[in-house]
Amino acid sequence: MPRTAKSKHINGKFLEIPKQFEYHLNHTLAEHKEHSTFLQKFLAISYSIRDLVAEKWLNTEEVILKRKDLRIVNYLSMEFLIGRLLYNNILNLQVEDEVKELLASYGLSLNEIAILEEDAALGNGGLGRLAACFLDSLATLGYLSFGYTIRYQYGLFKQEIENGFQKELPDDWQKNGYPWEFPKPEEAVTVKFFGRSESYIDEKGHLKFRWVDTYDVLAVPYDIYITGYNSDIVSVLRLWQPRAINEFNFAEFEKGNYEKALYEKNLAETLSKVLYPNDAFFQGRELRLKQEYFFVSAAIQDIIRRHKRRFGNDLSNLSQSEVIQLNDTHPTLAIPELMRILLDEEGYSWEEAWEIVKNTIAYTNHTVMPEALEKWEAPLLQNMLPRHYQIIEEINARFLKDVSEKFNGDLQKIINMSVFEEGNIKKVRMANLCSIASFSINGVSELHTEILKRTVLKDFYEMYPEKFNNKTNGVTQRRWLLECNPPLAKLITESIGDKWIVDLYELRKLEAFLDDSEFLEKLDQAKMWNKERLAKYVQDKLSVTLDPASLFDIQVKRIHEYKRQLLNILHIIHLYNEIKEGKHLKVPRTFIFAGKAAPGYRMAKLIIKLINSVADVVNNDPVVSKQLKVVFIPNYNVSAAQIIIPAANVSEQISTAGFEASGTGNMKFMLNGALTVGTLDGANVEMLEEVGAENIFIFGLKAEEIEEARRKGIYNPFGIYLENEKIRRVLDMIRNGYFNKDNPELFVDIYENLLYGKFAPMPDQYFVLADFEAYEQTHKKVEELFLNKAEWNKKSLLNIARSGKFSSDRTIEEYVRDIWKTKKV
Ligand SMILES: *Cc1c(COP(=O)(O)O)cnc(C)c1O
Repeated sequence: MPRTAKSKHINGKFLEIPKQFEYHLNHTLAEHKEHSTFLQKFLAISYSIRDLVAEKWLNTEEVILKRKDLRIVNYLSMEFLIGRLLYNNILNLQVEDEVKELLASYGLSLNEIAILEEDAALGNGGLGRLAACFLDSLATLGYLSFGYTIRYQYGLFKQEIENGFQKELPDDWQKNGYPWEFPKPEEAVTVKFFGRSESYIDEKGHLKFRWVDTYDVLAVPYDIYITGYNSDIVSVLRLWQPRAINEFNFAEFEKGNYEKALYEKNLAETLSKVLYPNDAFFQGRELRLKQEYFFVSAAIQDIIRRHKRRFGNDLSNLSQSEVIQLNDTHPTLAIPELMRILLDEEGYSWEEAWEIVKNTIAYTNHTVMPEALEKWEAPLLQNMLPRHYQIIEEINARFLKDVSEKFNGDLQKIINMSVFEEGNIKKVRMANLCSIASFSINGVSELHTEILKRTVLKDFYEMYPEKFNNKTNGVTQRRWLLECNPPLAKLITESIGDKWIVDLYELRKLEAFLDDSEFLEKLDQAKMWNKERLAKYVQDKLSVTLDPASLFDIQVKRIHEYKRQLLNILHIIHLYNEIKEGKHLKVPRTFIFAGKAAPGYRMAKLIIKLINSVADVVNNDPVVSKQLKVVFIPNYNVSAAQIIIPAANVSEQISTAGFEASGTGNMKFMLNGALTVGTLDGANVEMLEEVGAENIFIFGLKAEEIEEARRKGIYNPFGIYLENEKIRRVLDMIRNGYFNKDNPELFVDIYENLLYGKFAPMPDQYFVLADFEAYEQTHKKVEELFLNKAEWNKKSLLNIARSGKFSSDRTIEEYVRDIWKTKKV
């Protein structure tokens, strides 16, 4: 495939952006360029860029049809948190100068146009953002790939803060029109629900099953092409839109079956209405199960159709042409769906079908927290998907025979590993089904994979050790450095060239500048530019004035008890107390929080209110606010992250050890030169390995210590409260309404949960008090180091220089090497 220097010259065509821009203003939007609004100009420039993107797809489609030696990666995920695409595509296509020149002729900057794009927030947090980074890396590296998900009408809710409380608003992300998707109505497929499984004897005398009397909806694909940097290959993000097969089913109506006619229409309308806003929490809602099946069934049908187009009707070689990666258990129904199609529609025997399935499907686990593991009520699944339920039973029966053989009839093993959890209500354990049917099972950091092997998937590890492997997460440096941090990207490229954009290990070359005070000064200036940009953002949004010279200490991520925003704010209260006593902070400090709480997660929402209450008291105290500021930035999303993360001096990655599977926020901060304050959890462990203990602030209990204390039930936070005066004071202030004088009881539940475990299985289940002292000591070291600007900048540079491992390009190459076994175009 010939690579062209100028990406706008592709497929033998020459598309000039200014011409396309005028064309789209006049003909796509039917507007005079003199009268056009900012939004219309945004759309017209987006359509102009989209023309170039479409050419890349035309090329990719040719490659798919011609290069039959290339196995296609299918990434099935309930979430793709892709954020904005305009500037991302401009950078990948390398047309920034042309676009800026064009916009300048209208007196416009690219930034003021780019921010008119709504974030596509089709995800909750890390899991969805990972999927987005993977598509970027796959396209950049030149692998053929499809991402599959739902075209949610409403993405993750928008967060406002009202009187310190989170308020959720609908995210109607397509309200102004969305320029990046291509509907493909001719590739629609039918997805069935309910009905019953019927047996019959086929011509050959074999017992067969068919799924009948179903309720059907159409699944219509909308494609977003995800560009790669300087690549002629795009990844396809295929969003499935449900649609009623007949707006009104007259046949059913005639038969007097009003209910079915209306149910199908209603189903089509509700299926894709909204993304469930839970992060790392399972809520067994029927509509969610329908969503999971809907997009998975459409995806499997699509994959089979593509295989037939490339190879004809024989599916016995499906696993050579396609691989299916399940992003957590949400798409587990891909397993029985592929079995069903092979058995009932394609006429394969059980043995043949199973061979295909178990060589095609691979599973990524994202959490070991019991409340996050999907366990569907068996009657719910059986009623909605009767044929799939039958298939799951058969998979399980055959598997348990193998278990019994392997472990000499060990009953405990059978109980643990069965897909079904027996009990008052029988449950279907999706992680077990995935572990049985997948040829690969991976965790997302070294620590997480080890914990998987010794805890939740222990028995499966004993049974199939060869399936287990680790794939430490990564982030794309295109979005998380090149796009979000222009001054740092420029400085790096001026110093070591631009190869880092496609090979992040190149950043090691920055170590040559460790003792170059001129370079370190420029690094400091780049950080200052980002801090000033964030200060302006905060001024505009919150009318709070930040001092860019102060130490910016940032914790941004979903609000979750295990992520321990509470530890951070308790420590801030302690600093407040010290200042009130007349002590002086050695450096002025700004603590920044952002993140959404699941709307039904009471404790997380209370923590948001606590942060805002503390912020009010701190920021409005004339003495304290000279040294200390606290802000909570509303509506954390990808675009906010792109402004917030580059401005950090300190990155807070302080989850209870053993609970954060990997984290990817931690990597984005490191790449942008923040120093990490973190526990030995998730990928922090590997960041420590890369950067060295002198260049990261590690504190707190280790995963084994937490595990042991929980197992033995020996943790006593009340004892800590009694012994540690600082902690007692902080907790008593919360308890007594110091930060909430007009409703002094508001935070009692936080206090009682820490000391008595009022809403949890045990007091302080995430060991906040146990780690407080170590956290405080660590922050004293942080403060000390920040006094020495030269030393700080040197460590900052070392963090950047040694962040090469955390590119999603590295992650993808490992998936390719160990799991997907495919080749570059
Ligand atoms: C990277 C990212 C996350 C994940 O952050 P963690 O700190 O790893 O939990 C969540 N949300 C957004 C918007 C992100 O960009």
